[in-house]
This record gives sequence, C-alpha cells and structure tokens, in this order.
Amino acid sequence: MNERPIAEATPRSDPAQAEVWAYRVLYDGQCEICQACVSWLKVLDRNDKTVCLPVSMEILPALDSRLRIDDCLRQLHVLTPEGEVVVGWDAVACLARLFPPTWLIGVLGQRFPFCHLGRFLYGFVAKNRYALSKCRGGACRIARPESVRRQARFGAFWSCYTLGLFIRLPLVLLAGAMAAVQRVKTFERTYGKRLDLLDGKLSILFLNGVLPNTVPLLFGELFTMVLYDGIAVDPGSPKMRRSLARHLKRMKRRITKVIATHAHEEHVGNLNWLSAVSGAPIYVSPMTAEFLAPFKKLPWVRATIIGQPSDLKQPYNLLEEVVETESTRLEVIPTPGHCDDHIALYDPKEKLLLAGDAFMGSYFATPNPDVDSRRWLASLERLMGLDIEILVEGHGHIHTMRADIPDFPGVVIREDPKRAISAKLDYLRWLREQIETGFQEQLPIRVIEASCFPWGRRTSWETCATDECIRLLSLGHFSRTELVKSFVRPNASPLPTVYEVRMSASN
Ligand SMILES: [Zn+2]
Repeated sequence: MNERPIAEATPRSDPAQAEVWAYRVLYDGQCEICQACVSWLKVLDRNDKTVCLPVSMEILPALDSRLRIDDCLRQLHVLTPEGEVVVGWDAVACLARLFPPTWLIGVLGQRFPFCHLGRFLYGFVAKNRYALSKCRGGACRIARPESVRRQARFGAFWSCYTLGLFIRLPLVLLAGAMAAVQRVKTFERTYGKRLDLLDGKLSILFLNGVLPNTVPLLFGELFTMVLYDGIAVDPGSPKMRRSLARHLKRMKRRITKVIATHAHEEHVGNLNWLSAVSGAPIYVSPMTAEFLAPFKKLPWVRATIIGQPSDLKQPYNLLEEVVETESTRLEVIPTPGHCDDHIALYDPKEKLLLAGDAFMGSYFATPNPDVDSRRWLASLERLMGLDIEILVEGHGHIHTMRADIPDFPGVVIREDPKRAISAKLDYLRWLREQIETGFQEQLPIRVIEASCFPWGRRTSWETCATDECIRLLSLGHFSRTELVKSFVRPNASPLPTVYEVRMSASN
C-alpha cells in the first residue's frame, strides 16, 4: 500500500525552468482553497499543460513585470503561453477549457450570463477565503507565512484543514477506490502463488488464510515467507500454516535454517512448526528470543485476524553476525525502528537485502505502536551504506532495476533500492522536523498530525481513505497518529515489557 514514491506537491519554484508553452498558474500557497484547486488541476492535467507556482516575492519579477504580489495574492493569475495575463474567474475558465472533463464549464463560463455569475461567486470566495486559510504548524509555508502563522487560532486551522479535505473529498474517495481495485488485483495474482527468482535461489511464497486475507485486501500488505539459498525467513502465523504446508508439499527445495527478522506475529507463528517438519534449526536474534518466550498477549484484533503465536520452544539458536547458507554467507544487520529487535539479512555477493519490515515503502503512514521512527532513521542510514541491487521486503514487495528479476505487477517495483531508501529517509527527516517544531510550539497532537499530512502534499489525500480505514479497523492501533507518536517514544527499556508500555502510552 505504501510503495508509492513521495509525490511532493511543492511545485517547481524556478520559473525559468517552467516551460514557456505551459500555462503558468500563480496561486496563493497559503490558501487551502487555492491548494485544493491545484490538487484538482494536477489530476486533470495529464499532459503537463500547466505549471503551478505558489506566489512569492522572488518568482514574480522573473516571470513578468506586470505581476504584483498583492494582486496575485488577491486572486488567481494565469500567464498564458502567448504572454497574456488572465485573472480571477476568467483565469479559472481559461484553465477549465484546457481539459475535456471541464471544457464545457470553461466555454460557458466565458459567456453571458455565466461569466457574470462566475465573477460574482469567485469574488465572494476570494474575499472570504483568507479568513479560513490561516494555517499553522507548517502546513503553509509560502509568501508571508510568519504574519499568518502566529496569530492563527486553532479554529481557523481546523476550518482550513476541514475545508481542504471537503473540497478534495471526491478525489480522496476516488483514490481510495482505485487503490482498493489495485489491492484486489494484486491479491488475485499472488493468491497461493510462489515466485521463483534468480534461478530458484530466491523464492517468495505468498501465504494466505481466511482471516489473514483481509489484510492484503483492505491494507495491501501481502503475507510471505522468503526462501533464500535454503534459508526460510519469516514463516508466517498459525492462521497461514495450511497455506505454508501446501507450498512445502509442492516444493522440492531443502530448508537448512529457519530465521525470523523480528517478533511480530505474522512473521514468527510457524517457527517451531516449520523447524519440526523440515528438520531445519531455528535462528533468532537474542532480543527476538526474549520477545518470543514467552510471547506477549496480542491485542484482540491482531490475535483474531493474524493469530496469537505460541511461545518459542527450545531448541533454537541465537543469531550471530553472519549466517552460513548453502552457497554463501549472509550478514546479519540490526535494524531497529520498525520494532526494537528487527534484523535484516544482506548478501554482499548478490547485493541483495532481505529487509523484513525494515523498509515498508518510501511513504508509510500507518505504523503500529512498536515503531520508533528516530531509531528507524538511524537504521536506514546504516542501510544506505550497503550496495543494494535487490531489496526484498517482508510483505511481498521487491525493489530492483535488475533485468534478471522479471516483472510481476504489484510485487516487483522497478525502482533503485537505494533511491527508495533515500526517499524514505527524506520523508522521515521532514516528518521529524515537522513534529519537533509542532511540539516546540506546544501544539496539540491532533494539530501536529494534521500538519504532517498537509493536503498540499499529494500522498496526504491519496492515501487518506485507506489510512483512515486502517485506523478504524485496527481500533486506532495502526494510524497516522501513531506515526506522530513514533517520533516521541520515551527511551524506555526495550526489553519484554515493551508491548505493554507502548500499548498504554498509545491510549
Ligand atoms: Zn513487523
């Protein structure tokens, strides 16, 4: 669900770069109504006919000497490729004519009596919008943010934020529906499948189960066991056991070791079972072993859907710095952040990283209460030091540009793994700054959360429907609020009580 790159909505601010044949749209980046209209424009404009530029002192003189900042802040200005300046309602009609779905509005909008009606309504909104558009917490950052931000009251902030959502609501619902269709297609394609790659050295076994299936369908996370050079990584939960057994029956490959990357229930519930049926020894990190014996009681939603794993039983081995496989050796890399005990496995020869849940897409907005984003940042910085050509996630996504990995829609993502990690780092660093500023300004957590998802950022509204659905179904356990909290975790002892500590901290 989260593999999309960050679709940063901050427009190109260098007008010299803006193509001269494009319509240059000058909008007030502080105004939620203007930003919302820009979101619509970007959806309509598939052929880059327009370039949206937030009004600022710097860009106006470089664009056209006729443009004045106060005029531009008062109403929309469009600079046409012919060098004409169109303003207000006429600018709206001019833009509407560029796209088939809105063409009629554009044409009628310039005719009597609609042009008068349009100008009247536009004038009314333009006059009143500013009262609604006073943002704070960093959601606005354009022409004159300081003068607005300090005196803005929360009432104004929430009206602005709600209005922004309201204007985009059709887009939000459409994006949610399209994401749902994609999830169903990927689920269908992967149901019960095994994907053999690198001449059989790497296999992805997709795991299913009646209740676990709701997760890929609703949230987009697939359940998998990865088999790499004889090593079985994260063999799923008890509710996926039948599906794993079917895979093993069809597969002639020998399993030499069973490893868990971390102690989350969908990764560890079959460790003892798989070890018993395959005869392969179990390897876990010392911290994972502590989390697994005894395994803490899960919140009931997770226990019902994924299944409560039983305690890890002896015999098992503790992971050291390297793991021997059939033909090579893997480095064990501690990668706390997604949870404290997380490790990733790296094959330097193949330049392949079995990342587990240490990378869950560049944009990941609904973590659970185990996530510590500051530690996650440090782990990702460590991973940036590796030479990675193939990144295998713990939930069914493979990031690679390598031609020997064939296309598999919904699973193989053609993206340089290092660029994907770097994009995630950028996103987390931006969030950290946003959240730290929010706490310094003593903003309530809900306001900080909203400022981390400004509607001007495309991903904020594109994933809104899915994220809120996840929040609802997980009873708030996996949510955008948890993302904010994940930056302010107390540095409490990470050992076994962690579940309770964090659960209660999140209430
Ligand atoms: Zn996990």
